Amino acid sequence: MNQRRILVTGGAGFIGSHLVERLLSSGCHVTVIDDCSTGSIDNLKNVRSHPELRVVQARVSQCPDLDAIVRDCDFIYHLAAAVGVELVVHSPIRTIQTNLRETEAVMEAAAKHNAPILFASTSEVYGKSQQPGFAETDDLLIGPPHLGRWSYACSKLMDEFIALAHAKESGLGVTIVRFFNTVGPRQTGRYGMVLPRFIAAAQAGLPLKVYGDGLQTRCFCYVQDTIEALTRLESCPGARGEVFNIGSTEEVTILQLAERVIETLNSDSSIELVPYNEAYSIGFEDMLRRKPIVDKLHGAIQFRPSTPLREIIQLTAAALPPD
Ligand code: UDP
Repeated sequence: MNQRRILVTGGAGFIGSHLVERLLSSGCHVTVIDDCSTGSIDNLKNVRSHPELRVVQARVSQCPDLDAIVRDCDFIYHLAAAVGVELVVHSPIRTIQTNLRETEAVMEAAAKHNAPILFASTSEVYGKSQQPGFAETDDLLIGPPHLGRWSYACSKLMDEFIALAHAKESGLGVTIVRFFNTVGPRQTGRYGMVLPRFIAAAQAGLPLKVYGDGLQTRCFCYVQDTIEALTRLESCPGARGEVFNIGSTEEVTILQLAERVIETLNSDSSIELVPYNEAYSIGFEDMLRRKPIVDKLHGAIQFRPSTPLREIIQLTAAALPPD
């Protein structure tokens, strides 16, 4: 059987690097395109000298080899994107441009060479709807444009439209996934993500800073569960042209998360409530609830993310280098 050739954009990022490791260990040839703006070559250190790995350090839209790489590949995972609420709030132009330009470039190349592609979108597109669970066909409730946070959701949503338009007009095999709070080793707290921040604070005996009243909820999905879902979707022809939520359904408040981190890591840290206006900027809107319905994913690939939160905290803490 011919060796599969895979392109992973954003392959030096947190999720991308775990995916690259999995693909290499299953015998694929992998090309990574990553500008290492928020990702890092260091994330690939376990596989850096693997003979089947090629790393191109460039923006996708400015990569001179993009056309040739896509022409020669069997499947594309498009993960390159602006990352983290803090980056989004502080650098909205960079966020919008990255999300739109890179996706447009890779979709055009994929359509030209008819290369099936999986596009990593986000649960942010559900916006501030407070439904008990989000399904892929739900209406989306996004805030107004003067609140910078929503530029991330809107740009990712436009990417979804671009991807589905290519599927419709040129028959491109596009699969869209919406990630819900993926966590695990190599995720950095630098761009605002809560779990690495809480773990680092708990390990250092510093206060865990919970924003708002801490009653907002999230579901934390272990990165290896996410990777399992991604690779199953790659080999699922019925997934083409479809949108899937990928996430855990174990819902916790952020306050409970802080308590669980302290308890699991046996830490002496305290919990400090920080008003949103101090944490982000005036008028910041948080999502109060964010829980996926994953029946569609399970129907397609017979898999549901299920690593329990306690185990996630342990696995992540064991691997977390101090930021
Ligand atoms: N959060 C927090 N303390 C932090 C970082 C984040 O309380 O140091 C909160 C944040 O306001 C949000 C939740 O944790 O309600 C998850 O934040 P994250 O940025 O990890 O993900 P997202 O907001 O994209 O769900």
